[in-house]
Amino acid sequence: MRAVPGVSAVDLATAVAQWQTVVGKDWVFTSDADLDPYRDSYSPVRDEKEERHASAVVAPASVEEVQAVVRIANHHRIPLYPISTGRNLTYGGSAPVYSGSVILDLKRMNRILEVSEKNASALVEPGVSYFDLYRYIRDNNLKLWIDCPDPGWGSPLGNALDHGAGYTNTPFKDHFDAHCGMEVVLADGEVMRTGMGALPGAQTWQQFKYGMGPIVDGLFAQSNFGVVTKMGFWLMPQPETALLATVTAPRYADGVRFCDTLISLIYADALKSQTQVVSPVLMGPPDAELGPLLRRWDEGREAALDAYAQRKGVPFWTAPVALYGPQSVVRAQWAYIKERFSAISGATFNEDASYTFPLTDEQVRSVIDKTRAGIPNLAYFASRSSPDAPPLEGHMDFSPIVPMDGKVIVSALELFAKACQELGIAPLGGRPLFYHTRTVTLIYAIPTGRDPTANKKAREAFAKLMDIGAAHGWGEYRIHPEFMDKGVGYYSYNNHALLRFQERLKDAADPNGILSAGRYGIWPKHLRDVAR
Ligand SMILES: Cc1cc2nc3c(=O)[nH]c(=O)nc-3n(C[C@H](O)[C@H](O)[C@H](O)COP(=O)(O)OP(=O)(O)OC[C@H]3O[C@@H](n4cnc5c(N)ncnc54)[C@H](O)[C@@H]3O)c2cc1C
Repeated sequence: MRAVPGVSAVDLATAVAQWQTVVGKDWVFTSDADLDPYRDSYSPVRDEKEERHASAVVAPASVEEVQAVVRIANHHRIPLYPISTGRNLTYGGSAPVYSGSVILDLKRMNRILEVSEKNASALVEPGVSYFDLYRYIRDNNLKLWIDCPDPGWGSPLGNALDHGAGYTNTPFKDHFDAHCGMEVVLADGEVMRTGMGALPGAQTWQQFKYGMGPIVDGLFAQSNFGVVTKMGFWLMPQPETALLATVTAPRYADGVRFCDTLISLIYADALKSQTQVVSPVLMGPPDAELGPLLRRWDEGREAALDAYAQRKGVPFWTAPVALYGPQSVVRAQWAYIKERFSAISGATFNEDASYTFPLTDEQVRSVIDKTRAGIPNLAYFASRSSPDAPPLEGHMDFSPIVPMDGKVIVSALELFAKACQELGIAPLGGRPLFYHTRTVTLIYAIPTGRDPTANKKAREAFAKLMDIGAAHGWGEYRIHPEFMDKGVGYYSYNNHALLRFQERLKDAADPNGILSAGRYGIWPKHLRDVAR
C-alpha cells in the first residue's frame, strides 16, 4: 500500500480497516491498478516526481458514511481529498492537490433528491452527473433545463465548487451563482446545512439563498473547509423556443465596437446567454498563408490581416447569439440585436437554427449546438489544434478575467497572442468568453501530454502568461493545482490579508488540516511552510 505523508504505516492500516467496516471492503481501494484512474491524465508533470498521486480511495454511499470516514481520518490525521465525479480535467482531474492524500470519492452518492418543476430547482448529491440530471428531467417530462459545461460527464456539484460555467442564460450559466443551499460535512464529522437548510422543516431551502446571518456557502468552493454532500440549484424553465444565430463583422478595426456592442446588449439584458468572440483570422488554426501574417507585429499587421480575411471571404469577428423565450420575444430581441450591430458596416446576421420545445429524441440528436440547448454531450473532445492534428492529449487552461471593455479585450488578445508566439506555444482557443455577468474570461488551452520536455515548456509559458496578466491587473478565475499557490499569490492586497484570513478560518474549522490540503493555496498550519 502507498504511504501517506506524515502518517505511520500502522495508523494507515488501522484507518483502512476502519473505513472498510464503514463502507464495505469493496469500496476502499489501495492497489496501484485501482488508483491509476485517479491520476490527472492531463497533468503537466505527468510521470515526473512532482506528479500528484492518491495513496488510497474511500467511496462512501451516504452522508452518515461520509461522517464516519471523515472522523476516522481526523482521528489519525490522514489527509482526504473529496471529489464528486472527479472529471476536473484541465484543472487537476481527480488527483489530490497534496500528493499522497486519500481520495474521498463521492460518485456513489448519486441520488437526485428533489426536482421542483414549479420552482425550477433541484437538490442533488455529489455523484449526480449532468447526464443523470438531464435524463431524469427528460424521463419525467419536466419543463426544465440544466446548464452544462462543454463536457457533460462532470457533476453540477463538483463543477460549481470549482466555479465552473456553461452556456445558457444568466444566472444559470454561472454554476456557483445558480446554486441555492448546501449540506456540508465538516472536518470533525459534524453535518451542517447552509441558508434556509439550517431551519428545521424549511420550505424554501432551494429558493432563498441567504437564510439568516452571514452567507457561508462561498467558503466551500475553491477551498477546503468541508465535504459538500448535497447542493441545491436553480434550473432554467424550459423556454418555448430558442434561436441560435451568429453575428459577424468584417475588419480588424471592428473588434472594439463588436465587443462593446455585445457588452451593451448584455448590460441591457437583451442578450442573457453565454456568448464569445471568435476571430477566424486571429484564432486560427492558421493555414500556410496566415501563419506568417500572424507573426507580423509591424504597422502593416492590421492591413495584411484584413486583406487575408477579404481574400478568403471570412469574417474577422464572429459571435454566437442564443436567444430563449416565447417566439415573439425572441424575434423582438433578435431584431434589436441586428439593429445594434448594423451600425458596424458590413456586419452580417445568420440564423443557424431555431427550435420549439420540447424536442423529440430524434430532434435532440440533430441539435447543432447541444450545450446551448441544455443537452449534455462530449462533442468537445473532438477539438483539434489544426484540421489534420489528432485531438489534444491534454491541456491546462490559462484563464484570466478581464474587464468588459472592447478596447481592453482586443488589446489583451493581441498581448497574449504575441506572448504565446514569443514563448513558442500554440494554445487552442484564446477567445473572450462571456461566462460571468460583468467580466470576460479569456481561455487559452495550453497543450500538455506525455513528453516531459514539452510539458516543461508548457509550464514555463503558463507561469509567464500569469505574470503578464497580473501585471495588467488580471487574475485567473480557476487554475490547475500546479499553479494554485502562484495564482492565489497575486491576490496579495495588504500583505496577503485575504489568504491569511482564509488560513485563520482553516485552522479553526479543520485544526488537523485533513481536508484538501493546499486547494487554492490554503494549506493547513503544519504544511504551510513545507508544501508551498
Ligand atoms: C475539453 C474540456 C472542456 C471543458 N469545458 C468546461 C466548461 O465549459 N465549463 C467548465 O466549467 N468546465 C469545463 N471543463 C473542466 C471540467 O471538465 C468541468 O468543470 C467538470 O465538470 C469538473 O469535473 P466534476 O464536475 O467531476 O468536478 P470534480 O472533479 O468532482 O470536482 C472539482 C473539484 O472540486 C472539489 N470538490 C468536488 N466535489 C467536492 C465535494 N463534494 N466537497 C468538497 N469539495 C469538492 C475538489 O477539489 C475537486 O477536485 C472542461 C474540461 C475539458 C477537458
